[in-house]
Amino acid sequence: MPSLSDSTIAHGAATPDAIALRGSGTVFTYKEAADGIRAYAGMLRDKGIEVGDRILFIAPTVPEFAIAYLGVNAVGAIAVPTNPLCTPTELGYYIEDAGCKLVIAWDGISAAARQAAEAAGVEFVPLVQGAAATSGTPIDEPVDMAPGDIACILYTSGTTGRPKGAELTVGNLKAATRISRQLGGYEEDDAVGTALPLFHVFGQASVMLPTLDAGGPLSLMARFHPKDFIDMMIEDRLTIVGGVPTMWNAMLHVPGEVEPGAFDRLRLAVSGGASLPLEVLQAFQRRFGCTILEGYGLTETCALATFSRPGVPAPEGTVGVAVFDAEVEVRDGEGNSVPTGERGEVFVRGPFVMRGYWQRPDATADTIIDGWLKTGDIGELDAEGNLRIVDRAKDLIIRGGYNVYPSEIEETLYAHPDIVEAAVVGVPDKHYGEEVVAVVAARPGSGLSAEDVTNWSTERLAAYKYPRAIVFVEELPKGPSGKILKRAIDRDPLLAAV
Ligand code: ATP
Repeated sequence: MPSLSDSTIAHGAATPDAIALRGSGTVFTYKEAADGIRAYAGMLRDKGIEVGDRILFIAPTVPEFAIAYLGVNAVGAIAVPTNPLCTPTELGYYIEDAGCKLVIAWDGISAAARQAAEAAGVEFVPLVQGAAATSGTPIDEPVDMAPGDIACILYTSGTTGRPKGAELTVGNLKAATRISRQLGGYEEDDAVGTALPLFHVFGQASVMLPTLDAGGPLSLMARFHPKDFIDMMIEDRLTIVGGVPTMWNAMLHVPGEVEPGAFDRLRLAVSGGASLPLEVLQAFQRRFGCTILEGYGLTETCALATFSRPGVPAPEGTVGVAVFDAEVEVRDGEGNSVPTGERGEVFVRGPFVMRGYWQRPDATADTIIDGWLKTGDIGELDAEGNLRIVDRAKDLIIRGGYNVYPSEIEETLYAHPDIVEAAVVGVPDKHYGEEVVAVVAARPGSGLSAEDVTNWSTERLAAYKYPRAIVFVEELPKGPSGKILKRAIDRDPLLAAV
C-alpha cells in the first residue's frame, strides 16, 4: 500500500500552484508542500532513519506539522506526535516507551523537547518555520508501506496507568481518510479550516489527511481563539470547519452581528471528540448557516466510527450510524449484545480499529476482542442503528443506587442562556455513595446565582439527578483537543460544596 504522502505529492505535480496549507504567517502551495515532504524524508534518511523507526514529534497546528508528518511517513518511519505542552519528564517517557530514535520539535517552543532529547541521548532536530527541512537530499518516491505497517503512534491516557500508545497503521489512516472524505464530501474546491491539535487523532485523521487527499487548501490556527477563528472563516472563505463542541460554543459567545453573506461558502462543521449539546448545535447552525455533522470516535478508532450520513441528519441526540465498512454493537457486562434501546458498553469494528497498544499485549487483549474494540463508553442503539452516547463508563455517577449520566445534566445546563460551560461530576457522599455536583462557568456580568441554577435544574430534571451543589469557576480545564477535562477539575471546592 502506498504511503500517506502520495496524494499530496501527486497534487504537487497536477496542481502545483494550488494552495495546500496556510497558517501562522506561512503559505505552501501543493508543489512547495510536495517538495517539503521529499526534502524532509531525505533529511531523515540522511540521518540514518529507517523503515519502522519511531520519531517523537512536537508541533502546534501549523503547516509545517503536516509537511514533516508526511515526510516521516514518506521515509517509512513512525511519527509519535505529542502535545507541545508536555514537560521534559513526560516527553522522556514517550521517548523511552516508544524507543524514539529522533526528536523533532517546532522551533521556538522546543526547550522541553531539547532537554528531553538530551537526557535520553537521542538527536534533536528543530522544525523551522517556512522551511520544512534545513538540509538533506530529497527522496524521489515515498517508501511503499504495507497496510498493517504502523504510520503513527498516538498516546492516550485512559483511566488507569501510564499513557498507552495506540498503533495506527497506514491502512487505518487511509480508511479514516476515505471515510471522512466520503462523509464530509471533501473535494478539491473545499477550503477547510481547523484549530484542532494535529497531534490528536481528530485533527489528523478527520481534517488534515482528508483535506490534503482531496487537494484543497487547509487553513490552520495554532491557538484557538473564537474571534480569530471566525475571521479566518471569513478571510479564507472556508467551506468546511472541524472542531470540538467547546469551540463551537465559544464562537457563539463572540459578540456582534454576522455580516450578510460572510459565510456564504460555509457548508459544513464537523464536530466530534465530545458530546455536542443540542442547544449549541442548533444555535451554531442558525448563526453560521451551515450544517453541523457530529461524529463519534476514539484515538483507537482513528477518529470517526459513527457519523451522520450526508443528507440524512442523525436524529437529535445521536451520533449517527456506523460509518461505511464498520459495525457498532452495544453489549452487557457479560459481552452479550443488548436489545435495541437498552444501554450497555459500545463496541466497534472496522478497518480503522488500531492494531494494538504499543508493546502492551495485555492492554491490547483487554481492549480488542475478536476484532471488536471495547470503547469504555455507555450507549444505546435505536431501531435504525443510530448510536446515542450516554456517557463514558468512568464518568457515570451512582447516587443512592440510581445511575446518573452527567452528560444529560450538562445538556440541561447548557440550555440556560447564562451558562457558558458546564461539567457534572460525582463526589463521594456518605449517605448516597456519590453526590451530583455541577461546575459552571457563567456568562460574565450575568449575575447567575447557585439558586438560579438549582431552580433551572429542579424544573427540568428528576429529583434523584439534579445537581445538589453548584460550584462556579471562570473557565473549565480543557484537554489538548479542547475537550473539557473532568479529571483536571480542582476537587477540593467540590468536596467542600456537598
Ligand atoms: P485522553 O487520551 O487524554 O484520555 P480521551 O479519553 O478523550 O483523551 P480520545 O480518544 O481523545 O481520548 O477520546 C475518545 C472519547 O471521546 C470517546 O471514548 C468518547 O467518550 C468521547 N467522544 C468522542 N466523540 C464523541 C461524541 N460525538 N459524543 C460523545 N462523546 C464523544
